[in-house]
Amino acid sequence: MEEPKTKNGSEAGESRPGNFIRAIIDEDLKAGKNDGRVVTRFPPEPNGYLHIGHAKSICLNFGLARDYRGKCHLRFDDTNPCKEEVEYEESIQNDVRWLGFDWGENFFHASDYFPQLYEYALDLIRQGKAYVCSLSAEQMRDYRGTLREPGRESPYRDRSVEENLDLFQRMKAGEFPDGTHVLRARIDMASPNLNLRDPVIYRIRHEEHHRTGDQWVIYPMYDYTHCISDALERITHSICTLEFEDHRPLYDWVLDQLDVPCHPQQIEFARLNINYTVLSKRRLIELVTGGFVSGWDDPRMPTLSGIRRRGYTPVSIRNFCEKVGVAKRDSCVDMGLLEFCIREDLEQAAPRAMGVLRPLKLVIENYPEDQVEEFEAPCHPNDPAMGTRTIPFCRELFIERDDFMEDPPKKFFRLAPGREVRLRYAYIIKCTEVIRGAHGEIVELRCVYDPETRGSAPADGRKVKGIIHWVSARHAVAAEVRLYDRLFVKEDPCADKSVDYKTHLNPHSLEVLTGCLVEPSLAKAVPENRYQFERLGYFCADRWDCKPGRLVFNRTVTLKDTWAKIDKKD
Ligand code: ATP
Ligand code: MG
Repeated sequence: MEEPKTKNGSEAGESRPGNFIRAIIDEDLKAGKNDGRVVTRFPPEPNGYLHIGHAKSICLNFGLARDYRGKCHLRFDDTNPCKEEVEYEESIQNDVRWLGFDWGENFFHASDYFPQLYEYALDLIRQGKAYVCSLSAEQMRDYRGTLREPGRESPYRDRSVEENLDLFQRMKAGEFPDGTHVLRARIDMASPNLNLRDPVIYRIRHEEHHRTGDQWVIYPMYDYTHCISDALERITHSICTLEFEDHRPLYDWVLDQLDVPCHPQQIEFARLNINYTVLSKRRLIELVTGGFVSGWDDPRMPTLSGIRRRGYTPVSIRNFCEKVGVAKRDSCVDMGLLEFCIREDLEQAAPRAMGVLRPLKLVIENYPEDQVEEFEAPCHPNDPAMGTRTIPFCRELFIERDDFMEDPPKKFFRLAPGREVRLRYAYIIKCTEVIRGAHGEIVELRCVYDPETRGSAPADGRKVKGIIHWVSARHAVAAEVRLYDRLFVKEDPCADKSVDYKTHLNPHSLEVLTGCLVEPSLAKAVPENRYQFERLGYFCADRWDCKPGRLVFNRTVTLKDTWAKIDKKD
């Protein structure tokens, strides 16, 4: 057994914010509990793709294991036979690895424990602590009582041990149809905690299971399975979200009745909520199956695969989870914090490039027809190690349509008739003429350039404030660019239960621009390459659609938090 690290499990010199869970573990280690072991687990149900809320749980559980030199198990909570799918299991493993965590050999399924769980159930029956109940689901609800009224005892509660053993074994043998009997823990129908009013621990489901096939027709319930799985794996700290706080007495009750290898401690923390999105697998499934998004990895989705495809990096998500912290009270985190974290990472990690999203042609009349110059530009303004790129320049260029205004307001420092602007890395130009198409629309700008201003200020001391990006018409490469906005227009789309949350979907959350042009150095971009398009934001080559000869970029995030400004104006 290795020595635990310093207080809060942090590496020397690295400060990790403490939290109440680390404080509990520190106390346990000091008291010599669990022989100094720290073993956590991440227990997803394989019934959907992981979302950013799960990332918080992953970073917490795997982070504790890393910092305390312990272990974190990956366990699929696959007790529900009809919902689980292999596709989900694979995506979950990919997502956890992508986030930067590894469970090593500690890979488990709750279904691995079906035989032991069955034996433990027999044990409970023999002790008189579980019974077969034959009330219908509706009757059982009726007998359960309410928060204000105690429940009533089932007429089957006092079946003999022999009868219970016989019935339970016959349930297992497949003698009864679904819904005819259940196995219930015999606890207390008058308990103020509804979870202790003789909860169901086994039910009959004549259903194929993706791992155990048709071996079982009775399946254990989550509350019963989870605590025993934790104990069998000798988990020390079983960390879950707050909604399980009321289940903790049941977690402890089950383990107290049985001869299990250990009794892990359940600790609850607040789940992550983020505004302008939904973090519930049920709702995310609905968005996918209803065709509201293109799939689980649609870059607007809060799924890890969606966020990844959008261009987020694992480190940005880990930093986000670290900043959000671990608390005991539910709260809603601003989407802006997630965006801050990706900007912070890409600001130093992403090479710069020039791309024009909505091109407007610009001809430099005093530049020779067939002349080409090459400008050497740094890939990153502060990181010489990232090298340089070559940007060709010639008579015909494209600039951003937004960077020209015929009748500009005062604070507009970009191009306008008779005005000067600097082309990034190149010369100062002046607009001399606006060419219009048949319907009066602007189709081209005519300019002149000042050959003395390549990389230097004008000699006569005149001031040119604006700098705009551009691409060479002859050398630029065509690209498709996908711009994303928030998935929902409401901060909390689920707040008002009387309306369908889907009515708050943002109809403008995706804008596809097909006529974009990017500098030639981007022709070699491969899926998941990330760039800062100067002045426009961070972009990521699409994981699936970007191929040799077809450039497709997703805008991960804009350069500035434009939403904060909009919010202030409102
Ligand atoms: P959902 O509510 O989206 O369906 P879930 O809790 O049913 O999620 P599980 O697969 O059971 O999904 O979750 C695996 C682990 O991730 C659990 O320990 C759960 O507590 C945790 N988790 C799920 N959602 C969040 C969240 N929003 N914030 C933090 N942890 C979460
Ligand atoms: Mg769950």
